[in-house]
Amino acid sequence: MNYLSTRGHPDRKRFCEILLEGLAPDGGLYLPEHYPQVDTAMLARWRELPYAELAFEILSLYIDDIPPADLKAICAKTYTLEVFGSDEIVPLRELEDGVYLEALSNGPTLAFKDMAMQLLGNLFEYELARRGAELNILGATSGDTGSAAEYAMRGKKGVRVFMTSPDGRMSPFQQAQMFSLQDENIHNIAVAGVFDDCQDIVKAVSNDLGFKRKYRIGTVNSINWARLLAQVVYYFAGYFQATASNDKPVSFTVPSGNFGNVCAGHVARMMGLPIQTLVVATNENDVLDEFFRTGIYRVRAAADTHETSSPSMDISKASNFERFMFDLVGRDADKLRSLFVDDLGNRGRFDLSGSPAFRQAAERFGFKSSRSTHADRLATIRDTDKRFATLVDPHTADGLKAAREHLAPGVPMVVLETALPIKFAATLVEALGHEPARPARFEGIEALPKRVVKLPADAEAVKAYIAQNCD
Ligand SMILES: *Cc1c(COP(=O)(O)O)cnc(C)c1O
Repeated sequence: MNYLSTRGHPDRKRFCEILLEGLAPDGGLYLPEHYPQVDTAMLARWRELPYAELAFEILSLYIDDIPPADLKAICAKTYTLEVFGSDEIVPLRELEDGVYLEALSNGPTLAFKDMAMQLLGNLFEYELARRGAELNILGATSGDTGSAAEYAMRGKKGVRVFMTSPDGRMSPFQQAQMFSLQDENIHNIAVAGVFDDCQDIVKAVSNDLGFKRKYRIGTVNSINWARLLAQVVYYFAGYFQATASNDKPVSFTVPSGNFGNVCAGHVARMMGLPIQTLVVATNENDVLDEFFRTGIYRVRAAADTHETSSPSMDISKASNFERFMFDLVGRDADKLRSLFVDDLGNRGRFDLSGSPAFRQAAERFGFKSSRSTHADRLATIRDTDKRFATLVDPHTADGLKAAREHLAPGVPMVVLETALPIKFAATLVEALGHEPARPARFEGIEALPKRVVKLPADAEAVKAYIAQNCD
């Protein structure tokens, strides 16, 4: 399998080459040259497989530069009962007639990002050992991504993590999750500033090419193809649990921010998994909902991005959206470049409202969308508690609300649960008047010793800290 850039760069790469890279050299995103197709015999065989073996089968179609026995061992080591809390790994439960919740948040940090990041940690360790190389991951987080990355990379050979976060701005639970890690290769950096300052620092360090090369700086951001690929697996696992046979359509609703999660659903659908509809659920930051309703994609500036009670969806420029758009314009890299470089780059928007391509988003690719507000979130959390004695986190609540707007008779609707309620306790308290239950392993983590350094919002200070801690 070869990978190409959405912006038309002539090079073709193998999986392990793009594994440790971010964007393609022309600023595009990597995609496989084609989507491998599943047939009825494959689906019949896969339906019987445990999660780790299903992951191996799907990954094998996209990864041909890791020996199969090694890839199988990596999957087996990643998707275990110990790490994800159940044999199913992503258990499905029916909430009401035809509406299901697929549990993706029982990994180490209680958010679905563990599903991909845990695999990435094992793939990184494997590939770095094979190359005899090292990697220093530099990131910025306001919550979920940073902790998922740290729990995936802790104790891994050849990898160090330097994670910046805005000092004092994460929830006490999120802070405790990250700062209580005592692993030598994990470095928490609390920056005196806001999340944008952290992101600016990461950009400034990455733009210093000499420093970047000398200290082998890398990232684990959501445009990494391996992360997306890992997420394709749970669409198949959800499908098999929601159906009794492989001729039945299923729809999925996905709480969305950077469009990574739902893009994995698009890939599963392109492979031939019988997915009818992919519902993109957004919060008040509704750039994606606006596009799927109108054909106009209009990114917002950081200052126009609302701080909401589903904060992991507070995104106004969805980094993975370019992947779907590439397929939508018929994989025409010139057209894609004119939309993303000329229109979006210069004017902050593009407009497909009059184009036949836009109609295909729904008709050919199955996309629909909805938007929720804080009041919707509270109402859904209360209603789900009252009617089904089930607590959902605010992001999953956005999903549930959107799902109910797109139900079709006889077609199971699977809502992806993207985090556990304890991660967003303040909103649960606002909705219900009490804290959600806390898994036993997180009892009292706020009181554990913290491993964190405080630095000014200054790229030079962060560089000096990295240099000091790489020997
Ligand atoms: C990251 C995240 C999302 C958004 O997922 P994308 O892949 O960025 O669309 C939704 N909910 C939670 C809890 C998240 O952590």
